[in-house]
Amino acid sequence: MTEPDRFPRAALPSVASTRAGGARAPLLPGAAIGILGGGQLGRMLGFAARAMGYRIVVLDPDSACPAAAIADRVVVGAYDDAAAAMELAGLADVVTYELEHVHAGVVGALEAHVPVRPGLVALRLTQDRLAERRFIAGLGIATAPWREASDDESLLAAARELGFPLRLKTPFGGYDGRSQVRIADAAGLSGALGRLGLTAGTALLVEAEVDFAMELSVVVARGLDGGTAAYPVGRNLHDAGILVESVVPAGVPAEVATAAEALGARIAEALDAVGVVTVELFLLRNGTLAVNELAPRVHNSGHWTIEGARTSQFEQHVRAICGLPLGDPTAYGPTAMVNLLGSGEPREASLVGAADALADPLAHLHVYAKRTVFERRKMGHLTVAGATTPDEALVRARAAAARLRWR
Ligand code: ATP
Ligand code: MG
Repeated sequence: MTEPDRFPRAALPSVASTRAGGARAPLLPGAAIGILGGGQLGRMLGFAARAMGYRIVVLDPDSACPAAAIADRVVVGAYDDAAAAMELAGLADVVTYELEHVHAGVVGALEAHVPVRPGLVALRLTQDRLAERRFIAGLGIATAPWREASDDESLLAAARELGFPLRLKTPFGGYDGRSQVRIADAAGLSGALGRLGLTAGTALLVEAEVDFAMELSVVVARGLDGGTAAYPVGRNLHDAGILVESVVPAGVPAEVATAAEALGARIAEALDAVGVVTVELFLLRNGTLAVNELAPRVHNSGHWTIEGARTSQFEQHVRAICGLPLGDPTAYGPTAMVNLLGSGEPREASLVGAADALADPLAHLHVYAKRTVFERRKMGHLTVAGATTPDEALVRARAAAARLRWR
């Protein structure tokens, strides 16, 4: 099922013309980019792609998804709907994804018809937290100590080895802190599998809780030619598993920043990714880094790059997946991004306070045009770029965001 035809097939350039020269030739403006997922990431990716003259086809279960406003066409279907994905493949010259929870089998089938970037390997490894942990361990890179468990007995054994507190994470489908529970002590273990909606026999990631000094992330792009460009590492603050703010520069020693950026590039290479990859990190109290999570895509912690870097992560991703040279990831200066989270009961989204928030001339407002607001839903973000120090950027971004609310 598709939307009313705003993107007639006849209007598409012939595949031969845009793919002339083979898979390694750049896809030029005028070509169509397919995006699996039409949330805010797809929307912002679409803005960047449109600015460059690309056309956008989005696959999403909701015809009124945030990316619909920038899509030439929305194919309505679930992320595991093979027929809908094939329809997308038929309309696109390259396909990318804005979330890693798309069905790997469907993406595998897509690949036979159209390049899928960052790629199937990156997707498979990052949509399964256990596979991701094994992959990172294989690279000799640190993570929080972890075990795999599948029933009460193996969970107890893991807890004995790792100690408390623990984080139990379902391997598939988690985001924004969902699908994980914190276990403070042995008493908390009973019934934990059930609270995660798991039955005995299902694999589970059991992880020691890390007493980190701060959370960091590095967004890195890898081009079709294998070249990489890392953004300056950012410092992130999460609240109950959900990102609330990011600031650049992170205020870490230069050797930590360099190590984080190098680690990002190494991981993007090992994933054989073409596009943007994000590495979430813990900076441990001893000054070393441990990887928390990988995302083979643009990321909330990279939103600051829209106004704060010479090339936004979204433009960078478009350049990479289209086989164009990467842009300069350098930050212009201190930049802070604050997420605008929803609050209250589910209701029609109506934002008030925009004029007050934008009374700060350094503030930039991004609203994702989600129809419904509810508690802690990511509704938009606000960035302050051009401040003198990272702290000033953060204080101003928080103050501007505090003037916004959902009616
Ligand atoms: P998202 O996809 O939005 O990043 P997620 O649901 O995949 O979130 P994680 O990244 O695993 O979840 O965890 C979310 C946050 O919870 C982390 O950024 C961190 O603040 C905290 N957290 C997760 N695991 C640990 C851990 N082992 N030790 C300490 N804190 C942790
Ligand atoms: Mg995370």
